[in-house]
Amino acid sequence: MLSKIGDHQTVPLSVLLKRELANEKIERPEISHGQASQSKKGEDFTFIKTECQRVLGDGVTTYSVFALFDGHNGSAAAIYAKENLLNNVLSAIPPDLNSDEWIAALPRALVAGFVKTDKDFQQRAQTSGTTVTFVIIEGWVLTVASVGDSRGVLESAEGTIYYLSADHRLDVSEEERERITASGGEVGRLNTGGGTEIGPLRCWPGGLCLSRSIGDLDVGEFIVPVPYVKQVKLSSTGGRLIISSDGVWDALSAEAAFECCRGMPADAAAAQIVREAVQGKGLRDDTTCIVVDIQPPEKPDPPKPHVKKHGKKVFKNMFRKKTSESSSQSGKEEYFEPDVVEELFEEGSASLSERLDSKYPVCNIFKLFICAICQVEIKPGEGISIHAGTNDPRKSRPWDGPFLCLSCQEKKEAMEGKRLSGAGRYSSGSE
Ligand SMILES: [Zn+2]
Repeated sequence: MLSKIGDHQTVPLSVLLKRELANEKIERPEISHGQASQSKKGEDFTFIKTECQRVLGDGVTTYSVFALFDGHNGSAAAIYAKENLLNNVLSAIPPDLNSDEWIAALPRALVAGFVKTDKDFQQRAQTSGTTVTFVIIEGWVLTVASVGDSRGVLESAEGTIYYLSADHRLDVSEEERERITASGGEVGRLNTGGGTEIGPLRCWPGGLCLSRSIGDLDVGEFIVPVPYVKQVKLSSTGGRLIISSDGVWDALSAEAAFECCRGMPADAAAAQIVREAVQGKGLRDDTTCIVVDIQPPEKPDPPKPHVKKHGKKVFKNMFRKKTSESSSQSGKEEYFEPDVVEELFEEGSASLSERLDSKYPVCNIFKLFICAICQVEIKPGEGISIHAGTNDPRKSRPWDGPFLCLSCQEKKEAMEGKRLSGAGRYSSGSE
């Protein structure tokens, strides 16, 4: 289930199986973190929760959450998301999952949680919006969901840098520009009069440079809250994660950010990155940084043969007898497991029917009657298939889930530009 996608080398099933077996014996990483911020407008907010407990069938496991919200046009959306997003994500995960199922459920739960948070906030009819970079760390697996232009960047212990978030800026994504234009928005630069256009591409009305966010009802519903989600598994050598608002990234490259704090503990590193960013260009924007170190648990003297055994060489044929492992030296038979970050999941589509697919880990029949976004119970005859209205006849069967309640179906149509501006706004109290 988890061996997914990626244009990198495919990992043989036997390797995955072996790795899972090996991982049961590998201890969980030690996680340390620090954060720093210099405020200009007071619209950056962080949310950090470590040692979150989750009850499993046979015990308790923990995970950690690190999130950054960079608000615009006020801080209401950032504060609302900070206070509600985690709960909305967790309520979209079915109960009683084992660790692997839970991790596999996260990408869809994150989409549901982001959309629910956006919808609930918009029903308060407030202006303001926020970027979100939301990271859940469970064991060695990092799941990152993002809207907007804050960024999460990872450096593995081997020194490779991985970008774990998308830049939802109109300037960088042709696909997003087309989506917004098709949904009724206008994309262009600021016109200073006399035909002179300056600055980044913006969405009009409103003038927002972002194509996705939570909030921003006044800009248009096609500024969607559907997050880009990336899920990676670190090797047991660990790595460092930096989550920062654009105040940092407008001044520093990812390489420079990692380099300027090398060797420092996480809290000093976060402070150094903010200092470095502000020194370079001055404090022109809220500048916030969270540094998370994911490290192997400290052991006085790790037994070397064991490390070599699971790290270097395993074989393609899962039925091969153990004795042959040591004898076969032919190159073709061997698979050298890269000691690098493994991509488990990546999806960035803005389309809810693509993101809330039915390949959910638990096929609980009762879930058919729960809205896939807001988790309310759907009364008989009221559920609308997420595929309703699509042109694909295979997907238009009304009995194919997942299902949305009426109000979430309206939200979906508004996001797709199928409701005119204004009509997509909720008459409050209708729910
Ligand atoms: Zn709903």
